[in-house]
Amino acid sequence: MAVQKTLAIIKPDATARNITGKIISRIEEEEFTIKAMKRLHLTLADAQRFYAVHKERPFYKDLTAFMCSGPVVVLCLEREDAIAKWREVMGATNPANAAEGTLRKLHAVDLEKNSVHGSDAPETAAVETAFFFSGLEMA
Ligand code: ADP
Ligand code: MG
Repeated sequence: MAVQKTLAIIKPDATARNITGKIISRIEEEEFTIKAMKRLHLTLADAQRFYAVHKERPFYKDLTAFMCSGPVVVLCLEREDAIAKWREVMGATNPANAAEGTLRKLHAVDLEKNSVHGSDAPETAAVETAFFFSGLEMA
């Protein structure tokens, strides 16, 4: 299995509850290397552009409003099989379906406010990491 990079986001529901550090600890325990990281407050336009793949979905308007409702922490993570491994650590989108011990099971408020984001494939990981970080920042 190849070494990959993926994009993680600690969402506004998590930064608001001061669990940023807990989530970053878990990232390190799971042996990801944090290649780049920053805390920022997305504009609505940023959130709409980031989630453009979901623009026809009924939850798009609420999701994009939520994502700019407070600060987020974005991270470029690297390890072997990073994309699938980070999704495994996050757990299912809906915390009601998330496995025991996953971040969403432990921390999510609900299906929308589910604390963390992760890229879902090599193509989206490349686009999403480049959305926030330059090549130099992730080197
Ligand atoms: P994931 O984040 O697990 O990749 P999706 O890409 O399907 O999930 O959805 C992106 C985000 O949109 C989810 O993490 C969640 O915050 C929100 N979301 C997804 N489905 C719903 C829904 N049915 N109702 C409200 N919010 C949703
Ligand atoms: Mg997704």
